Amino acid sequence: MSSTPDIDDLVAQARQAVAAATTIEEIREVSTAVSGKKSPLAQAGRHLGTLDPEARKALGQRLNAARAAIEQLIEERRAEVGAAELAREMEADRIDLSEFIDGSIPAPARRGHLHLVTQTRDELEDVFVGMGFEVAEGPEIETDWFNFGALNIPPAHPARGMWDTFYLDLGAPESTLLRTHTSPVQVHLMEEAVAGDRLPIHAVMPGRCYRRDTPDARHLAVFHQIEGLVVDEGISFADLAGTIHVFTTAYFGPDIHSRLRPAYFPFTEPSAEFEVTCTICHGEGCRTCSQTGWIELGGCGMVDPAVFTTVGIDPDRWTGFAFGFGIDRCAQMRHQIADMRALIENDIRFLRQF
Ligand SMILES: [Zn+2]
Repeated sequence: MSSTPDIDDLVAQARQAVAAATTIEEIREVSTAVSGKKSPLAQAGRHLGTLDPEARKALGQRLNAARAAIEQLIEERRAEVGAAELAREMEADRIDLSEFIDGSIPAPARRGHLHLVTQTRDELEDVFVGMGFEVAEGPEIETDWFNFGALNIPPAHPARGMWDTFYLDLGAPESTLLRTHTSPVQVHLMEEAVAGDRLPIHAVMPGRCYRRDTPDARHLAVFHQIEGLVVDEGISFADLAGTIHVFTTAYFGPDIHSRLRPAYFPFTEPSAEFEVTCTICHGEGCRTCSQTGWIELGGCGMVDPAVFTTVGIDPDRWTGFAFGFGIDRCAQMRHQIADMRALIENDIRFLRQF
């Protein structure tokens, strides 16, 4: 008669071993040790064949119950350890955003904003819309006719030297170009107004322009202009001067004054350059304004009757004025930006200032 193994002891030992396992790998090892083929439990079953039927049945039932109990202990422990391991992995993978700043406070999300040139354009549009102007746009690729011809600048006209032009390899040579100013939008507007019998016109036309200039502190090869056009009955130079005055005061503030100086443009007669008080020295005189106290902002004048005739507007009935100036220049002046090239360099430290 062989000794009966203490099955309760085997279960108790297995319970201890399983509870001590802290990883899935350890549980696998413990599982083999307490319930595998070489485990004490398996060895206890080897006596079964030597027992009489009654005793064999009784021992068999106890062994089966013990095996089931140990397997349940293992499964429960496997679930516990598995959950703990998952939690550890998640904790290890967690990205602590506060580490990127100072280790304590999570960084607030930094929102982007519109580029200074876009802000300036929006603000200028608002000023003119407040004065009763509509906003119009036109294409950046133009024909020679819209950019020059219709504006009283026929081919070979000496005034063409005022604009260094990017021509496109499209159609006849020098027939297609990147517009050198927003003035061709005026031609489109006037032609559309004549075709649709929609005179008068009070519009501003902001947009991107291109010239073959070498960029420097005050010039860019790709820049932004805003152009104004008024065509109505009884419009005089005083209306033009008043519009320039109201705009400069609204945009730059009441301390900034404007003045007009005689100039020449092929599409206006008379023509003027308009200047505003230097924002750096407030009129005292400095290097930026060449000691004059004034900065040139743009050009303007009364629309030349020849331009009206070209687009089919009766110059005996209608008069008008036009003006144009640089949006980038406005931003540079108001925010006292020493070098205009900063506007296109996309240095985030610069852009965040505005
Ligand atoms: Zn100055």
